[in-house]
Amino acid sequence: MNTNTNTIVSRHTTSKGVVVWSRCACGRLQMALIPYGTDGKGLAAGGHHIQCPHRGR
Ligand SMILES: [Zn+2]
Repeated sequence: MNTNTNTIVSRHTTSKGVVVWSRCACGRLQMALIPYGTDGKGLAAGGHHIQCPHRGR
């Protein structure tokens, strides 16, 4: 997965993990939860512009 084009706009810790807000090259905001440890489940949310090359991933 290539996230190099994403710009991190905000990052904060929660009881479940680290929540990172980033902005894709297409301009849409993405949210990702990176859990602590290895047993947690990661979570990602956010959309892409219809012509974004990173769409559908
Ligand atoms: Zn995008």
